[in-house]
Amino acid sequence: MKDERHLIPRYQFRIGDLRQWHLVEGRCFHCGHGAIIPHSVIKRGRSEHDVLAKLEDKARCQKCGAKGQNYLTIKLAPR
Ligand SMILES: [Zn+2]
Repeated sequence: MKDERHLIPRYQFRIGDLRQWHLVEGRCFHCGHGAIIPHSVIKRGRSEHDVLAKLEDKARCQKCGAKGQNYLTIKLAPR
């Protein structure tokens, strides 16, 4: 049986690929602030065909306000 939990390369990862066990962490290059971004925020106003990496340009750091300096990683939530 194919393991559905394997990670898709981040540049191929589309919003429609998000599952409940995926945690999306945004990290700011500027100040190092990291936060888990809720799926509802990611999906808001976007197509499920959008690549997640595309959001990096739009994301703004909640701590220092830097824009376009955020890096998104997809992690697996603990069971
Ligand atoms: Zn920051």
